[in-house]
Amino acid sequence: MVINEIFYSLQGEGAFAGTPSVFVRLSGCPLRCRWCDTQYAWSESAGREYSAEELKEKVLPQPTRHLVVTGGEPMVVDGLGEFIRPFAEAGMHITIETSGIRFVGDLPCDLMSISPRLSNSTPTEPGSADEHEKQRLNPPALQKLIDNYNYQLKFVVDSPVDLDEIAGCIEQLKNVNPYKVYLMPQARTRRELLDKSQMLADFCLQTGFSLSQRLQIMLWEGRRGK
Ligand code: SF4
Repeated sequence: MVINEIFYSLQGEGAFAGTPSVFVRLSGCPLRCRWCDTQYAWSESAGREYSAEELKEKVLPQPTRHLVVTGGEPMVVDGLGEFIRPFAEAGMHITIETSGIRFVGDLPCDLMSISPRLSNSTPTEPGSADEHEKQRLNPPALQKLIDNYNYQLKFVVDSPVDLDEIAGCIEQLKNVNPYKVYLMPQARTRRELLDKSQMLADFCLQTGFSLSQRLQIMLWEGRRGK
């Protein structure tokens, strides 16, 4: 399996925001989100192979039991279950971060952190846009993910028009627990984060959805490896 990067930081988003975690970023993603901040992980070959032993030596000594498997898009990577299993057996809490475009079953995953892509993620280049639109929202896969795993749904919000789209997405799914839905401002700077958080606060109060932190922006403005 090609690993793009491994780093130790705070989980920035969702239910475990603020929790020290080891992040393992897998290489490869078929989406080309407009605001993607990890373009360096798009290619399946963007990184290097790690042996199981080498990975354990990197992950296990860190002073946390939280492992976050991120991407790229982990769910399109072959052998994901075999890769995670040794860490589950070592007692780690495992979060998988996915856009929800594909369902993979029987993963030893404590939290499936699903971030369905809204139309605000569509790239501007026509070729990439068509491919992105074909893949970005897969309601049957989303349904199976939320039916089979402990989950959270995190939506990236760029402007108020996205709020109707989120409602439409949730309407297509059954049994979504509103307490597991998080809204996150699309932002690259602290200023943007603050402005859009204020825009989202009232909507969260009306719906019962949670306003997610984005600590990686607040603390480090998205610096790589943080
Ligand atoms: S799914 Fe994630 S890694 Fe893939 S393009 Fe979108 S933001 Fe980037």
